[in-house]
Amino acid sequence: MTTKESQLKPALAIYDETILAGDGWMHEIKQGQTLRIEDVEGNQAVDTLFYNAQDYEDRYSAVDTIREQGNIYLTTGTKLISTKRNTLLTIVADTCGRHDTLGGACSTESNTVRYSLEKHYMHACRDTFTRYGALWPEPFSKKDITNNINFFMNVPVTPEGKLTFEDGISAPGLYVELLAELDTVCLISNCPQLNNPCNAYNPTPVRVLIWNP
Ligand SMILES: [Zn+2]
Repeated sequence: MTTKESQLKPALAIYDETILAGDGWMHEIKQGQTLRIEDVEGNQAVDTLFYNAQDYEDRYSAVDTIREQGNIYLTTGTKLISTKRNTLLTIVADTCGRHDTLGGACSTESNTVRYSLEKHYMHACRDTFTRYGALWPEPFSKKDITNNINFFMNVPVTPEGKLTFEDGISAPGLYVELLAELDTVCLISNCPQLNNPCNAYNPTPVRVLIWNP
């Protein structure tokens, strides 16, 4: 696993916000801008969807991204490919070293199946996606929620091809940076999960920064 630091200075960012533990965020990243997501306290899972801002049906595709780079993990150099084969963003810096795009986002239904019936009432990423998506000027709905990336989340694949959810490999202050190749809408659920170790059973805030070219 290799990491790459950024030369960008937070003081020069045009945007700098905190997404509270379990909350969401939706924002357009203009072509040429750089988005940084920082895991402020470590071991947080940041469930993220990307859409072409000119065509919302053209959205991040995990299978196309995995096939084009020939690797299941995302890190520096990964091009995030859309369903219409556009490159939405490129990961240009990454001090964590590896991000998941196989594990999906938690939902009240999956919490019920994986953990127990009474977990149905716990808040989940799909709720955050639909809540923030509904507030967007051209509202998003459930059908717009497809493949997501889990930044900072550790879902190693065993030699037998099994998926496992493990304690995070991230640490306080680690970040990933993405250069927008097209105008791209980013929808984040800062995962509220309390039932698996993806965020060490302790959801924490993340920071988002944007720089102009
Ligand atoms: Zn989640």
